[in-house]
Amino acid sequence: MKFVSYHAAGPRVGAVLGDPPNVHDVLLDGALWRSGLRQLIEASGGDWRRITAAPADGAPLGQVRVTAPVPDASKIIAAPVNYIDHQAEMSEAVHIDSLGVFLKAPSSLVGNGGIVRLPYHDRRFDQEGELALIMGRTTRNAAPEEALASVFGYSCLLDITMRGGEDRSTRKSFDTFTPMGPWLVTPDEAGDLGMLRLTCSVNGQLRQDADVRDLIWGVPELIAYASSVMTLLPGDVISTGTPAGVGPLEDGDQVSVSISRVGALSVTVDATGALPCPTRGAGRGPTPPAELTPVRGTAEGSRGLGGS
Ligand code: MN
Repeated sequence: MKFVSYHAAGPRVGAVLGDPPNVHDVLLDGALWRSGLRQLIEASGGDWRRITAAPADGAPLGQVRVTAPVPDASKIIAAPVNYIDHQAEMSEAVHIDSLGVFLKAPSSLVGNGGIVRLPYHDRRFDQEGELALIMGRTTRNAAPEEALASVFGYSCLLDITMRGGEDRSTRKSFDTFTPMGPWLVTPDEAGDLGMLRLTCSVNGQLRQDADVRDLIWGVPELIAYASSVMTLLPGDVISTGTPAGVGPLEDGDQVSVSISRVGALSVTVDATGALPCPTRGAGRGPTPPAELTPVRGTAEGSRGLGGS
């Protein structure tokens, strides 16, 4: 099942069915649900099997102005340096097993078709395409082997990032810096995570192309570790990290991330009203590549990163 979130006199959930896709009301244990997806996840105990789509005709998906699947998540946990090829392009000495996880402000969420607003004209901002998971139930100290049972679903996420030496929580938490969607896909529909492929394009140019199986810490390990640090609540988001191919964004760019069996998320970049940056972290911190890392399978990609 695919669930979209939208606003209609308050937060609402729809099930996406059919081709072309329509948005149907949803039922929990047979009763019409009239609140948001986070609240539905909590009320269902994290069991998507209790949720069904109303049979009545739905509205065309294109006519629904969607938000992020869980626009009111209590927290967004994210993984730094969780693919080896991204560690290499950033010249990072360490990866997630030295860094742990970080937090992004939930107020940075936007939905599919939204606008990413760049706050400064004198700093570099990059796209990071990522697979995100949404927690189904309250989880503390999960063992890796039981962690997947606590997941309610998956979505595409863009971890928009200002480069530099400021704290990650600042550089990645500006309003609109966490596009997510277009919907949440339940685990039965996402299937084997090891089979998922992630791609990310800017203005139609492919920048990132990776297999989710190449995560350093996979989804079970991320849930186990994050839940050893903080109690995970229904609707909490964990973003799994980005592969090689991060690159700068400019005013007017169209950014899209696609994950097989999960969906495709697209947003537009807008730098209108950008100001001088008040902090002085430029030139410090993790160093992004001056040129895009070649995508695998291309002539440049087969030469690898040597010399760059
Ligand atoms: Mn990231």
